[in-house]
Amino acid sequence: MRPRSPLRVRVLRSGSSGNAILVEAGPTRFLVDAGLTAEAVLREIEEDGQGPRLDAILLTHEHDDHARGAAAVARATGAVVLTNEPTARAAGVQLAGASVELFTSGKPFALGTVEVTPFPLPHDAAEPVGFVISRDGVRAAIASDLGEVTDELLARARGADLFILEANYDLGLMAVSSYPWFLKNRIVGAQGHLSNDGAARAAVAAADGRPQTVCLVHLSEENNLAPLARDTVKAALDAAGARGVWVEAVRPNRGGPWWTAASAPGVR
Ligand SMILES: [Zn+2]
Ligand SMILES: [Zn+2]
Repeated sequence: MRPRSPLRVRVLRSGSSGNAILVEAGPTRFLVDAGLTAEAVLREIEEDGQGPRLDAILLTHEHDDHARGAAAVARATGAVVLTNEPTARAAGVQLAGASVELFTSGKPFALGTVEVTPFPLPHDAAEPVGFVISRDGVRAAIASDLGEVTDELLARARGADLFILEANYDLGLMAVSSYPWFLKNRIVGAQGHLSNDGAARAAVAAADGRPQTVCLVHLSEENNLAPLARDTVKAALDAAGARGVWVEAVRPNRGGPWWTAASAPGVR
């Protein structure tokens, strides 16, 4: 019998102070990134009554806001850390004492009930990746952090039921913000972070005429606003005739609601 909800996903926290996404697929339960303390993660994952158990922590890249809690969360939950070799090396002490298994970017692998495909993203880290997570015909694509939209990202994300995508800054707000110029240059660079306009382009290109959800993450506290990010992406989708795409933006350093395949309009 087909499970009622093949995939459930919730952004536990998103932004420069820490990133973690919880994925549940039947008995399989894991995080994408662990940029929070073990206490914060345990508080979140114990909320649904399943206890402090995780199968794995997938790492997108080694930056503090994505990996700083990895070892502590792994020890507290029994999770294995899954990452590529350059990221494992660069993460160093952030993985101390954790059991680590390596994947190869671009190569799909099984994780319990789901298939995971890590794919390269342009960002100033050792070997940053996004993930496509699929189960039973339902597909979620996760892309954060990234400096620009690549053809590979679009190919991976096209038609995904859920597209979790960075929308870091609004160019106008960035221009007038107090950030020093070198930091602004890093953020807007091709290996930095994605703007609302970049996210809008990616969302339009990933739409395929079916109902989908785009969830915008990693919003800057200073250089963005959640309604602005959402409206920028939604307006671009509407202008492109992709009206069936639901867009939400997770406020900086907050969590988002559960997304379930069963509740997504148009998905079995
Ligand atoms: Zn980063
Ligand atoms: Zn980040």
